[in-house]
Amino acid sequence: MKIFVTGGAGYIGSICVEEMLNRGHEVAVLDNLTEGHRAAVDPRATFYQADLSDREAVTRAIGEFGPEAVMHFAANALVGESMENPSKYFRNNVSSGVNLLDAMVENGVKKFVFSSTCATFGVPERMPIDESLPQRPINPYGESKLMFEKILRWYDEIHGLRFTALRYFNAAGASEKFGEDHRIETHLIPNVLKVALGQKEAVEIYGTDYETPDGTCIRDYIHILDLADAHIRALDRGRSGFFNLGTGGGTSVREVIDCCRSVTGREIAVREKPRRAGDPPRLIASSDRIRAELGWEPKFQNIRPIVESAWAWHLRNPQGYEA
Ligand code: UDP
Repeated sequence: MKIFVTGGAGYIGSICVEEMLNRGHEVAVLDNLTEGHRAAVDPRATFYQADLSDREAVTRAIGEFGPEAVMHFAANALVGESMENPSKYFRNNVSSGVNLLDAMVENGVKKFVFSSTCATFGVPERMPIDESLPQRPINPYGESKLMFEKILRWYDEIHGLRFTALRYFNAAGASEKFGEDHRIETHLIPNVLKVALGQKEAVEIYGTDYETPDGTCIRDYIHILDLADAHIRALDRGRSGFFNLGTGGGTSVREVIDCCRSVTGREIAVREKPRRAGDPPRLIASSDRIRAELGWEPKFQNIRPIVESAWAWHLRNPQGYEA
């Protein structure tokens, strides 16, 4: 299949692109390289540098490549930043996303896979989080993704655009070639590993007074290769749907740090800080629907192999992609 990927120079996009190419698909990447890295784009893919706000450029690129499906990763995805700069989130994640959908409609492309998020649920009343729970985001990031989910329903109904929205929990880990390298790193695992590499003095723990067994937030970490596998399965679906995508396991911030100590064999100093705005205490996925409907099964069921793969990548690329 020919697949057009936005955000294919970013962390999740780059590894999904690699996996699709490994499985024989033909891939084009469109990225503005503000967050992504040119070196993270698999050399087997066609590359277009453009911003999704440039509707003409996007329409042209899709017209030229002629894909059967579009995967849309390009977005801003930081909860904390969205609490300070909501405008950026609504512009880039909603308005620019609509340009992409319109470019698909114009070019007659009918299959769409969307990177959504568990942040659309806010602070859910039950755990694990299944698809029947009400979506009440508590930050503009989650709200922007929920708005786009709603827009997708209408493009399906009106234009016959068939979508699969995958609501990611916490993507982590690396492939052999590609890994997590943000210019400003806010994510837990890469920040902990930076301490292990001696590039950062201590890792900050945002909140130790949550109502969880050790007082720190609990997240459902999913290996990036399992996440990529779900995207590839979604390509074969003929109808639209929403799926929560996590393993169903929960790991606290302190447990992640302990695991990193054990995997790296290095000392990792911590600094306890107040809570970060917009963080729900606990997010764990129910993956029943995606297992049943897409036959998806995570190969990595716990945090250790996820951290091991991330550590292996960081050891090979201590300066990330900019080196
Ligand atoms: N976190 C932390 N220190 C850091 C980065 C993150 O304590 O340096 C916490 C954060 O508050 C959250 C969890 O780790 O509870 C996962 O955060 P991350 O930013 O990796 O992903 P998110 O859940 O926001 O998508």
